Amino acid sequence: MKTVSDLVDEGVAGRTVLVRSDLNVPLDGETITDDGRIRASVPTLSELSGAGAKVVVTAHLGRPTSSSDTEFSLAPVAARLGELLGAPVKLVPLDGPLPNLHDGDVVLLENIRFDPRETSKNDDDRAAFAKHLADLTGAEAFVSDGFGVVHRKQASVYDVAEDLAGYAGGLVLSEVEVLRTLTGAPERPYVVVLGGSKVSDKLAVIEALLPKVDSLLVGGGMCFTFLAAQGYGVGSSLLESEQIDNARKLLESGKIVLPTDVVVADRFAADAATRTVPVDGIEDGWMGLDIGPESVTEFAAVLSTAKTVFWNGPMGVFELAPFAEGTRGVAQAIVSSSAFSVVGGGDSAAAVRALGLPEDGFSHISTGGGASLEFLEGKTLPGVAVLER
Ligand code: ADP
Ligand code: MG
Repeated sequence: MKTVSDLVDEGVAGRTVLVRSDLNVPLDGETITDDGRIRASVPTLSELSGAGAKVVVTAHLGRPTSSSDTEFSLAPVAARLGELLGAPVKLVPLDGPLPNLHDGDVVLLENIRFDPRETSKNDDDRAAFAKHLADLTGAEAFVSDGFGVVHRKQASVYDVAEDLAGYAGGLVLSEVEVLRTLTGAPERPYVVVLGGSKVSDKLAVIEALLPKVDSLLVGGGMCFTFLAAQGYGVGSSLLESEQIDNARKLLESGKIVLPTDVVVADRFAADAATRTVPVDGIEDGWMGLDIGPESVTEFAAVLSTAKTVFWNGPMGVFELAPFAEGTRGVAQAIVSSSAFSVVGGGDSAAAVRALGLPEDGFSHISTGGGASLEFLEGKTLPGVAVLER
């Protein structure tokens, strides 16, 4: 796989380079609430710009249905990217025209998903859009740096690399390198912590990881399906009844550790009535929205001996203060351990920042939730495979 450093060594001054970044950040109106992904995209863009390339960036925001969905405009992202790069970043419509670029300039194309061909299932539509991008920009090379989208076979991620010489950006390289450590021979004990909302989303990764890990700690909304599989009543907690049989089979591995207590609430709200109960004491009408303090201690004990940790999915509804302590406690235990630790998942990464945990307390915080899970499942990531050809 050729890298952005190879491209710089070949000489990029005065040449136009098309870069796919992942700038899909959460917005509150036009305010960016977490700019982690924009910051993660800066090193590759600076490297190219510093070497004199004319850089045209493509990225998406959310799932717009047409270009008139102006709430999905990348305008706030262009402004923030310009601040971080120290030079204004012009936002260019998808059908151009491209402004006259000087060496080192960086411009951003509007939300790439404003054109439905970007995500089309039809190969010819995507190929035509990829050709449009190459023609519009006059790019001679393509740098793939949007790790959060490499699991998608989309025009700006996959098809452009069929027309243009493709190179892996620094972010994609570092993400792939870290995840290879986890799928290779991670140092033991290898402990995985899974949470978040749905078992069904994570079933494939649980199945792929179980043979490789020493312990799998389960919290979040998904723990209630496992608790139900053990015969406990779960009140009105999140439950996927059709997954109970699967959960029971997975429990046979003997490696899954479940919470022993949970924080329950009488409704899903920050000002709900709450109590902490043992897992055999969840009454009807109450919903489990976080793991309890005894569970945090239990999980922390397992984490304290770990040499490798992968964490995906918050332990509770961390967005609401009364249900954030489980996530905070487990994250803190990971930070305190000496393990090589990787955080994967958009909400988990956001939780680290929202709860004020030190980002450098983790060895790596992945920018790609879905992409990192698919990698760990052993799936081929189209946006990486196309660079390896
Ligand atoms: P990630 O993006 O890190 O992969 P997910 O998207 O799977 O994580 O899950 C994140 C969501 O799970 C959060 O919005 C959180 O509020 C929710 N969640 C966690 N615990 C619970 C729970 N007990 N009940 C309902 N939702 C939960
Ligand atoms: Mg998520």
